[in-house]
Amino acid sequence: MRTLRRLALLHLALASTLSAQSRAPEATRPVDWAAIEREGTALLRDYLRVNTTNPPGNELAAARFLRDFLAKEGIEAQILDTATLAPGRANLYARVRGNGSKRAIALVQHMDVVPATPSSWSVPPFSGELRDGYIYGRGALDMKGEGVAQLMALVAIKRGGVPLNRDLVVIANADEESGSTGALTFADRHADLLRDVEFLFTEGGSNTVRNGSLLYYGVGVSEKRTFWQRLTVRGIPSHASRPTKDNPVPRLIAALDRLARYETPLHVTPGVSRYFRDISRNFAGEQRQWLEQVERALDNPRARAWILSDIYWNAILRNTISITGLQGSNKTNVIPGEASAEVDIRLLPDANPDSVLATLKRVVADTAVHFSPLIVPKAPFESPTNTDFFRAIERAAHERDPEAFVTSSMLTGATDRPMYRRLGILVYGLDPFRTDDADEQRGVHGNDERIAATNLGSGIRFVYDVLRYSQ
Ligand SMILES: [Zn+2]
Repeated sequence: MRTLRRLALLHLALASTLSAQSRAPEATRPVDWAAIEREGTALLRDYLRVNTTNPPGNELAAARFLRDFLAKEGIEAQILDTATLAPGRANLYARVRGNGSKRAIALVQHMDVVPATPSSWSVPPFSGELRDGYIYGRGALDMKGEGVAQLMALVAIKRGGVPLNRDLVVIANADEESGSTGALTFADRHADLLRDVEFLFTEGGSNTVRNGSLLYYGVGVSEKRTFWQRLTVRGIPSHASRPTKDNPVPRLIAALDRLARYETPLHVTPGVSRYFRDISRNFAGEQRQWLEQVERALDNPRARAWILSDIYWNAILRNTISITGLQGSNKTNVIPGEASAEVDIRLLPDANPDSVLATLKRVVADTAVHFSPLIVPKAPFESPTNTDFFRAIERAAHERDPEAFVTSSMLTGATDRPMYRRLGILVYGLDPFRTDDADEQRGVHGNDERIAATNLGSGIRFVYDVLRYSQ
C-alpha cells in the first residue's frame, strides 16, 4: 500500500514534470540575467552607431556587425543577397537548431532606419548615448531595440541550454523603411531556407502603456495594404492671362473634391472584432456595450460617431483615402499641360484592390482622370489567434501582468510581414517592450528616439519566455 502510493506519487511527479517540460522547456544551466541586460545594452549602443539611414541603407555594415556578434556566441550567420541588392546592402540569416520535432520560428528584424535631423535631437542620433538610464539613437525603438531583444533572447536560450523542439531562425533585412526590397529578395531567393518555418515575428505589435501603466498587450495579426495611386489630368498648356477650358488643374481639383467627400464603407474583420471586444473592458456604460459588439454599434449613429472619432479605430474599420501630393504648374502665369495628385489609399486585409479601384473611378466620375498605381499591394494577411505562438505570448504576458489582457491588433502602417506570408508562414507583430505611448509617439520616425535599458532587459526576457512557451 505504502509502496504503491509512493509509486503513484512518483508517477504523478514524473508526469507533471514531463508535461511542464513539454509545455515550457527550462534552462538547464542558470542564466545570468544582469549580464544579459548589460550586454544587450552595450550591443544596442554599438548597433545604433552603425548608421543605416535609408536611403542609402548601408545595411551590409550592420549585417557584418550582427554576424560578428553571433559568431562570438557560437552562432554562424550568413550574409546574403549582396549581389542582388544595391551596393552596400545585404540580408542576414542564421539558425539555431532544435530537435526538429516541431516546425521552426523565425525572428525577423530590419536593419535600416529612417533619416534623423541632428539639430532636432538633444543627443547626436547615431551616438548610441546612454543618458539617465535611456539608450538614445535612431532605431532604438524602430527597430534595432527589438532586434537586440530577439538576439539576446536567443543568446540566453543558448547559454541556458534550453532544449528546443523548434529551430530558431534569425533574419535581418535591408530596406524595410523604403521599398522592402530586402525582405522581398529574401523571400524570393531563399524560400528553401524557410520551408520548415511555421511562425514568424517582427515589429508590428503594440503594447499600450499610458502614464506608466500597461493597458494591454497588442499582438499584430494583420496590417493595412498600401494601394497608392497617382491621379493625372492632361490639358493644353497656355498663357494663364487667358483662361481656357483645357486647364487640367480645376478639373483635377473637382475630381479630388469628390474623392475627399467620399466615405468608404465600414467593415469589421474577425481580428478587429476581437480587438474591440477585448478593449471594451477598459470602458464603462454604453461605450463598453458598443465596443463589445462593434458591428451592431456601427448601425447606431451616436455610437458610430463616437467610434469613428478615434483616428486609429476609424482606420481599422475601413479602407482609407488620404490625398497628399499635388502637382500643377511651376509658374503662376502658365496653365500646365498636366496636373496630378498622389493619394495614399490603404486597404483592409480582405478588400479586393480591383473592386476598390473601380469604385473610386465611379466616385471621381470623370474619364479624363487617369489612375496609375504607385505601388503593388502586398499580400493580405490576418493571422489566427488560436495558435501555439499566440498562446505563448498570452502566457508570458499573464505571468507578468495578471490584470492586463492580450489582444489582436491591426497595424495601419506597413512591415515586411506580407513578404513572408506569401510563403505560407503565419506572421505576427510582437512588441517586447513596455514603452509609454508618449515616448513612442515622439521617437518613432521622430526625434530623441530612445529606450530605457531596464525596458530592454525586460523585453529580452519577455522574448525568451515567448520562445520557450511556444516550444
Ligand atoms: Zn520598423
